[in-house]
Amino acid sequence: MAAGQSRASDGTPGTTPGLWSRLRGLLSPLNLGAAACLLFIWSFTSHQLTQERDRLARTAQARTEVEARAFGEYSLGSARRVSEFLLDLRASWLAGREVFEQVIHERQEVVRDLTFQVAVIDENGMLVYSSIDPVTQRLDLSQREHFRVHKESGGRDVLFISDPVQGKVSKKWSIQFTRPILKAGQFAGVVVVSVSPEQFASFANTLTVGRDGVATIIKDSGQIVARVPNPTAGIEKPPRRRQFNEAGAPETGSYRVVSGTDGVDRILGYHHVPEIGMFFLVGESVASVMAPYDSYRHTTLVEAAASTLLIALLYFTLRHQGAERKRHIEEMRLASMVYASSSEAMMVTTLDGQVVDVNPAFSITTGYTAQEFKGQSSDAIRSECNDSVVIDGMREAVSTKGTWSGEFLIRRKDGSEFPALLTIDTFAGSAQGEPRRVALIHDMTEKKRAEEVIWRQANFDTLTDLPNRHMFYNRLRHEIARAKQSSTQLALLFIDLDRFKEVNDTLGHDQGDILLKEIARRISAIVRGTDTVARLGGDEFTIILSDLTDPGAAAPIIRSLLTRIATPLQLGEENVEVSASIGVAMYPRDADSAESLLVRADQAMFAAKSAGRNQWAVFTPALQRAEQERLRVTSDLRVALAEQQLAVHYQPIVDLRTGKVRKAEALIRWTHPARGEIDPADFIPVAEDSGLIVEIGKWVLNEALDQLMRWHATLDSTLQMSVNKSPVEFRAHQSGIESWTTVVERRGIPPHSLVVEITEGSLMADSIEVIEHLRAFRRAGIDVALDDFGTGYSSLSYLKRFDIDYIKIDKSFVRSLAHDPKDIALCSAIVSMAHALRIKVIAEGIETEEQKMILVAAGCDYGQGHFFCPPVPAAAFESFVVERSLTET
Ligand code: C2E
Ligand code: MG
Ligand code: MG
Repeated sequence: MAAGQSRASDGTPGTTPGLWSRLRGLLSPLNLGAAACLLFIWSFTSHQLTQERDRLARTAQARTEVEARAFGEYSLGSARRVSEFLLDLRASWLAGREVFEQVIHERQEVVRDLTFQVAVIDENGMLVYSSIDPVTQRLDLSQREHFRVHKESGGRDVLFISDPVQGKVSKKWSIQFTRPILKAGQFAGVVVVSVSPEQFASFANTLTVGRDGVATIIKDSGQIVARVPNPTAGIEKPPRRRQFNEAGAPETGSYRVVSGTDGVDRILGYHHVPEIGMFFLVGESVASVMAPYDSYRHTTLVEAAASTLLIALLYFTLRHQGAERKRHIEEMRLASMVYASSSEAMMVTTLDGQVVDVNPAFSITTGYTAQEFKGQSSDAIRSECNDSVVIDGMREAVSTKGTWSGEFLIRRKDGSEFPALLTIDTFAGSAQGEPRRVALIHDMTEKKRAEEVIWRQANFDTLTDLPNRHMFYNRLRHEIARAKQSSTQLALLFIDLDRFKEVNDTLGHDQGDILLKEIARRISAIVRGTDTVARLGGDEFTIILSDLTDPGAAAPIIRSLLTRIATPLQLGEENVEVSASIGVAMYPRDADSAESLLVRADQAMFAAKSAGRNQWAVFTPALQRAEQERLRVTSDLRVALAEQQLAVHYQPIVDLRTGKVRKAEALIRWTHPARGEIDPADFIPVAEDSGLIVEIGKWVLNEALDQLMRWHATLDSTLQMSVNKSPVEFRAHQSGIESWTTVVERRGIPPHSLVVEITEGSLMADSIEVIEHLRAFRRAGIDVALDDFGTGYSSLSYLKRFDIDYIKIDKSFVRSLAHDPKDIALCSAIVSMAHALRIKVIAEGIETEEQKMILVAAGCDYGQGHFFCPPVPAAAFESFVVERSLTET
């Protein structure tokens, strides 16, 4: 903005500088020089041409003048000869006819080349003699000019030369040379000698006048006498004034004129011979005079054009070079600008590493000013921590190839160091300077930091800071390779926390995170520094114990892991206890790849979990077989459902006080076509894992309700049906409250006649959801029984929280009743506590009279077990009920 204002205040219009610089460009020394050269060449050429033209004209003038003079002299000689002949003729005429003819005969030999007729005219103008024809008739020639001139001259003896006249008879042109015949001073006639114009001018034939050249004889009067070539051309024209016969014109001279006769432009040289009153002219056509000029001009112009071309060539070459230089300078300017303002540190050194210059960015980066660093060795910024192999490699590359690029540690002036990408290049020397090396130092601190962050994110778990699954696999592969090499073993531990989900759900995710961090800390504290602890996700951890000589070596570590993990910890208000299930797989015993080793450890962990949690299991081939078995059962179960291999058996539940059958528990049975009866304990967990339990559960419910409706009609309308519902079914949406309650409603069965048996697992799994489900059952009027009571941990605390109608004391508990008096006490305590909560108690797995008696004594409400009746098909159940009612009554 400020710059714009200052420019405006200059008052300079924006376009002027552009115009000015363009003008300056136009007036560059190169342009001026080229223009001067061209001007010189062409003015010199034009000067030369003018000179040559003038020279040729002048030479022609001089030549024609000389020739005209020669022409004149020669012709004067001829005229004198004719004049003498005339004198001889006159004298002989006066001497008498005989003498006259004698003279003619003798003398005509001498002038034959000139004359063709001799004539004599008497004093009256009558022809008295002609050398050609004898005079036979009278011919009056008194009107001829010569006759009049001589007659009127009063006796003066003069030579008269006539204008050309045309013979009346012969039609031939002639010039007549005459003299008067004088007798005693008196005019007595005229002697005439006729000369042909071509003969008179014949000398001209010896002249070299070129093409269109002429030689002309003109009388003082301006009358043309003869002309070569074409002797009679213009002869008949009247005399006129010309340049040379003006008064005062020089006797000899030259001029240029366009001929009135043939239109040719000529240079004419003339010479005046006063004695015979004639001008002799010799003319050369300008065209022929200038003929050499034309070729000269052609050559000169070609030369000039060639010179022009040469200069143009030179000009453009120089201009190109100039532009190149300008570009080069601009490049240099740009380069130095980049150098000065670049944010990359740059250092220029000699070939042996002596610093020549550094840019401002270098000073900022390293703390060395250009002033203090110039002249020093570039090694001053080399950190001692650089690998000597890297330094050697760099020196080698720079000295052989001239370039090197790589990571390098740079030391600042204050001693601190930073990682940099160092790029060294060598620039060959030129006319302008020595060869140099340029080092570009790119600070990589930030990049490294970012890379480190990215690397950490890619390889470490953000919550616990432990290696993540990706890093774990890398380490595991690495350790396997190492173990293979050193022929040692390694143990892979797969740790899964028990009931972690419960903590997460009840205390919130924040507390869950704190718990995971704490567990991570505890695990890491136990293992050796060389072992790898990783978190795979959720509550799953792994440990690689390397360099083991035998599998047993892992046992103490695993045991202390279990103990440490199980130590209670304070989470906010709560004192929480978690445990872990640990699976162990050995390399190379159990698997030879990282992936399969992890699968084995996972299977072992699953086994530990199934075995009741807070324990560890080592992978065995049996485990693997169990896994395979699970897979097979899963696929067989799908078929079983479709092919009706399933059936429902019913076990009576008896009122312990009356002994009457009050309820029936529906229990599924699977008869495998090949393997026969399969225990629900073997396939129910598989069905739960695969989700098939949802479909199976619905089928059992429908079967059981169908049966119940029949029994209501035939046996007892107050009979209740117990149907088991797996925790998995609670989680699956389509099997939710709606479907079970709607199934009951749709059938029009009194809702109270259905008891849903759930396990502690359901209550722990998803408390809020389960509470909703239980409430819905309650609203619909369906009863809920808590199955397998006494096997879990939470015991009675659940009963307070959930809306339960029955608890079913587990058979394992019932089994011990006869032997342990403490159990009897516990049993009565449970019953009375349940009753206090308005919950009825059902005892499962009653096998003996004794067990039954104890339970009755403890106040237990219902009993179920082989002592009464095992689970049986519907018909057998009916028989049992009928038989029983008969016995009772
Ligand atoms: P549960 O619900 O506790 O069922 C009682 C189990 O105890 C039945 O085993 C029954 O045969 C057995 N039993 C009854 N009286 C005695 C006895 O006096 N002594 C002994 N030793 N056992 C007795 P079962 O039929 O093998 O079923 C095992 C478990 O499978 C059931 O335990 C139940 O949890 C599950 N189950 C059975 N059918 C279904 C079903 O349709 N749906 C679901 N979700 N689970 C089912
Ligand atoms: Mg049950
Ligand atoms: Mg049970």
